[in-house]
Amino acid sequence: MNYKLSTTIMTDQIMQQAAAAFPVYRSQSAEAKANFLESIAAQIEALGDALIQTAMAESHLPEARLLGERGRTANQLRLFAGLVREGSWVEAVIDSAIPDRIPARPDLRKMLSPLGPVVVFGASNFPLAFSTAGGDTASALAAGCTVVIKGHPGHPKTSALVFSAIQSAIQLCGMPEHTVQHVEGTDFALGKALVQHPATKAVGFTGSFVGGMALVDYARERKQPIPVFAEMGSVNPVVLLPELLATQPEALAKQLAASFTLGMGQFCTKPGLILAQDSEALDNFLKTIGHEVPGLPTMPMLHAGIHAAYEKKLHEAVVQPGLGVLGKTEKETTGIEPTATVALVDGDTFLANPLLHEEIFGPYALVVKCQSKAQLAQILEQLEGQLTLTFMATEADALANVDLVELGQALAGRVIFNGVPTGVEVVASMQHGGPYPATTDSRFTSVGSDGIKRWARPICFQNYPAPLLPLELQNENPLGIWRLVDGSFTK
Ligand code: NAP
Repeated sequence: MNYKLSTTIMTDQIMQQAAAAFPVYRSQSAEAKANFLESIAAQIEALGDALIQTAMAESHLPEARLLGERGRTANQLRLFAGLVREGSWVEAVIDSAIPDRIPARPDLRKMLSPLGPVVVFGASNFPLAFSTAGGDTASALAAGCTVVIKGHPGHPKTSALVFSAIQSAIQLCGMPEHTVQHVEGTDFALGKALVQHPATKAVGFTGSFVGGMALVDYARERKQPIPVFAEMGSVNPVVLLPELLATQPEALAKQLAASFTLGMGQFCTKPGLILAQDSEALDNFLKTIGHEVPGLPTMPMLHAGIHAAYEKKLHEAVVQPGLGVLGKTEKETTGIEPTATVALVDGDTFLANPLLHEEIFGPYALVVKCQSKAQLAQILEQLEGQLTLTFMATEADALANVDLVELGQALAGRVIFNGVPTGVEVVASMQHGGPYPATTDSRFTSVGSDGIKRWARPICFQNYPAPLLPLELQNENPLGIWRLVDGSFTK
């Protein structure tokens, strides 16, 4: 069989279908789209235990985690339903005509409109919340886009079950058959063909740096370039400031050991780099974290490929000159259980070796002992863009280190005080996206209601005939949404 040829034909048909469904789906009322998103949530919940058992078998994640993730997936769909029903997300602006000004000002109105068919690459590490009906799909549907999902090969049965729930919702809500489509395959040619098809208008991705950048390169080769919103990874530095570290070194060590090994470290927000100035308190912290790690529970990683990549990168790191292992899993690991590891390096060695700055996806963290505050600042200046940056600090610490805090803002999309970065709330104020290489576009988030803005573009309607204006821009404001009218926010 000519696989390349069949991939091209299949992709063409799928994208043509997505393009044909787009004008029908986008013209559905906000209420109909909101009901559809809520119906997907209900249909996923109706899959019951079968979904959880299937996801457990495919991902090796425990039941409690997957129950939580299913709740998050459903809540995320309902959050976007609420956003669409409320309607103000379109950022409607009206600047009324000023006919007697010289020159006369025309009537100008602007709002966000959906881009068109979106291709979503399901992530391996969240088989529900960032996969088939995850945040990218939910936000794209909320914006009014049709969606083609490239399922992740790590959990094909889970994806197929979730897609069956989406199909049920499509039928129940009378949406176009091809509003959402699902494709499977492990040949990169399939992903490339989806990204490069002329009908594709944007791409959503969560995964490796290499994978994300491959999709960006495919998009650049197109005749019409399109945005690729890729969330690719981060070491999520944690800075231990001196006053807090002096008062609770053991508690901080236990908190961070639990966080970087949580879910076998398979979170893009795993704290993989811990920075502190040399002190007696830091020595206590190092002793505790070194003792803590070997005793922590282990479980298999998501799939054999991720496990192999982890062990390879871990080995490359620990043989670097000047790096010492503080603690690691002691019991014999079998199959695809990882060796959880915490290591130590001094600031000079870290600054001189860029390999140590890279993400190791799995239960690994590196502590950097800095000679001085100046060296800590130099490290923050040298690091690449991050999803998160955390300060463990008293208020006095924070006030005495405003310069470091400002460096943190330059580096990351979310700056945290006294918490761990794992755990990402799905709310309007969340920012899950940071400067490159954490993501390809730091202006946007892939978690929370602002995720919808990735899939829409502004259109200005100048001197438009009133009957042709979208409801959102009509004088009477029939949808009752918040709008900026002649400079004032009003309903
Ligand atoms: P991945 O290798 O980046 O793959 C994710 C998806 O992208 C898969 O569907 C894959 O297709 C596709 N893809 C990757 N490279 C491609 C290419 N060159 N052309 C076309 N499609 C491509 O991620 P993964 O399998 O989930 O895990 C591998 C590594 O990614 C991990 O070890 C970890 O380092 C990282 N990761 C990071 C995050 C994060 O949140 N930042 C999350 C998960 C994983 P195929 O199905 O055809 O392979």
